[in-house]
Amino acid sequence: MQNPFENAKKQLELAASIAKFDHNFIERLKSPDRYVEVSIPVMMDNGKQKIFTGFRSQHNNSRGPYKGGIRYFEQVNLDEIRALSFWMTFKNAVVNIPFGGSKGGIIFDPKKVSKAELERITRGYVKKIFHLIGPEIDCPGPDVGAGSQIMDWIMDEYSRLSGKKQLAASTGKTLSNGGSNGREEATGFGGGVVLREVIAKNLISSERKTIAIQGFGNVGKFLAEAVRELGWKIVALSDSRGGVYNENGIDLSLAEAHKKKTGALRDLSDSKNISNEELLELDVDVLVPAALENVFTLENAPKVKAKMIFEMANGPTTPEADEVFYKNNKIVIPDILANSGGVATSYFEWYQNMHNEKWTTKEVLEKLEKLMSQVFADVFLVQQKYKTTFRNAAYILALERIQEKM
Ligand code: NAD
Repeated sequence: MQNPFENAKKQLELAASIAKFDHNFIERLKSPDRYVEVSIPVMMDNGKQKIFTGFRSQHNNSRGPYKGGIRYFEQVNLDEIRALSFWMTFKNAVVNIPFGGSKGGIIFDPKKVSKAELERITRGYVKKIFHLIGPEIDCPGPDVGAGSQIMDWIMDEYSRLSGKKQLAASTGKTLSNGGSNGREEATGFGGGVVLREVIAKNLISSERKTIAIQGFGNVGKFLAEAVRELGWKIVALSDSRGGVYNENGIDLSLAEAHKKKTGALRDLSDSKNISNEELLELDVDVLVPAALENVFTLENAPKVKAKMIFEMANGPTTPEADEVFYKNNKIVIPDILANSGGVATSYFEWYQNMHNEKWTTKEVLEKLEKLMSQVFADVFLVQQKYKTTFRNAAYILALERIQEKM
């Protein structure tokens, strides 16, 4: 298993070797400002106490309060959390919002506990990291396994402990508890805007473009909807149980209804079942990892036929696979650019909470569209200047913005 934090540092070193940055500045970014491991004692429904392990890594706050999600996952570990906090610093700088980067997690499977236990675990975690977080210090948001209900509990527990209601103590909350309109679709929608800008710059050329998407959760689904708006042909989709393929294009509404009914995509009518491995090797214009980290490795990267890899998941490409893509003339649109619409809208939520405002979905998506077009234009300028990959360009842009503040 690749160590994601080592991968993140390799990406940093590569970008720093292309544009000249101060050595001490780069070294400082190689370790988070602070990270903690906490033990969370929780009374389970059966009356017995169980100790859970949680983490919070605060990577850098030179551009604003630390900001990053919380992952509830059985295999989560400190290296993963440190890497994810590192990527948040860079993503927030690329998308140009006034936040630094952080990430947190608790080792457990949220599907294996009751709702009451889930609430006690969440509130227990907030108690343990209370002195480290807050609207203007470090603001948690959702990530794998931790959705809006959990964000509501975090905000509520933080407010309780601090003695006053503080809506901006977390983002990704339900609408009735200070959540933002448009947050649900934001990441996929933002990816769609970036894809549109990619076409406008003629970075891929065929007439009716084909696309394959791995992962059909929040991100994959809304990206697929955005792609449909662009008039592209979605030839393959997948989830954890496998994929489906139709060379004439998958009917998205049918796929959504089938997944809702059966819990999986496979056996979709008019489509052929394929494996996730097969999906990654399809001859399509654009391949979208929208599920997990470390999807592309030295083993499968040489088999990728797609012209472009559009990273909606965080960290799907290992540095070794990145090198293969570069040698094979593949364009990679990196995660910190492609999926940054999610955190941009978290910033919109935080801003609305801090200023006691409530924007409509239309207002949120209009602001997001403008922001994402600008983000792509900014990265494109750097990419043209250094004649390098989009990943390096995004890192260089982020480094310039972070350095300015440090
Ligand atoms: P999700 O849990 O809603 O969906 C994940 C999807 O991936 C599901 O369809 C699941 O079945 C599928 N999946 C899981 N294991 C798989 C496997 N081995 N092969 C193929 N598919 C598999 O999660 P999400 O919110 O859509 O997040 C997906 C990715 O996007 C993650 O890397 C996440 O960190 C990243 N991301 C999410 C957001 C956001 O706003 N939700 C923002 C930025 C980045």
